Amino acid sequence: MITMVCPLCKNTSRRLFQKHGYWIRECEGCSHQFAEITHWEGYVDRIYGDHYFRGGGAGYPDYFNEEKLLVAHGRRYARLMSNYSKPGRVLDVGAAAGFILKGFEEMGWIAKGIEPNIGMVNHARSRLGLDVEACTLEEFRSSDQYDLICMIQVVAHFVDPRQAFRVAEQLTKPGGFWLIETWDRRSWTARCLGQLWHEYSPPSVLHWFSAASLRHLAREFELREVAHGRPMKWIRSSHAKAIAVDKLGGASLGRLILGVSSIFPNRLPVLYLMDDVFWALCQKSSFAPEQ
Ligand SMILES: [Zn+2]
Repeated sequence: MITMVCPLCKNTSRRLFQKHGYWIRECEGCSHQFAEITHWEGYVDRIYGDHYFRGGGAGYPDYFNEEKLLVAHGRRYARLMSNYSKPGRVLDVGAAAGFILKGFEEMGWIAKGIEPNIGMVNHARSRLGLDVEACTLEEFRSSDQYDLICMIQVVAHFVDPRQAFRVAEQLTKPGGFWLIETWDRRSWTARCLGQLWHEYSPPSVLHWFSAASLRHLAREFELREVAHGRPMKWIRSSHAKAIAVDKLGGASLGRLILGVSSIFPNRLPVLYLMDDVFWALCQKSSFAPEQ
């Protein structure tokens, strides 16, 4: 029996159930759920190759189809941020082809992104003129600090969330913000679907947070949650079909979604109606630490 400690609190954990050949574990201390992965060598390249963005399955059927929706998603978040901060310097973590970052730039933010997939980085640079670097947050080194760090659909994919948050904290100006969007394992959707929940999809998804567990972790890095909510999330019909086929498989909900969505053209935008995704805005204390 493999014993693995919780990546958040270092307590012992137990196996819950298997999905796609991987065990999903739960911490016996803080209840955090995470995937049991023993082979990390080349993990990021293996999971976030071009197939993740074009091949359907656990990723996207065609990420580029979602450009307009994602740019609009970025603009929506920038409008949300205007309630808390003037536009400043934003760092988008896992920026992919730069679409969400572009939305922020259009709303006056000075945009910087990091993304491990080199093809995506090249697209963001050459087609959108964005400053995007090819690396993960854990690898990113910079003396710059940012007013906002965006982690949209990325914290569930961190190999080591503590290390990633440690780096994020160092990159955040005093009084700066983290905007996080991720899946909520305490949502009604997740609880009703149980093991069939479509976001139990290792090995690309590694961590299943709840709003409370994320808030708790951010607090350990001296960031306090100032607001949270549920995003208006638009996806292409083709993406909804891919979720139904790959993540829900033969489950009756999957067949239902596939049946309903099959009458829509692939490029039609559809509103993601489930309650299992949330955003949280956390702020770092304004007091600069003594040097
Ligand atoms: Zn734990």
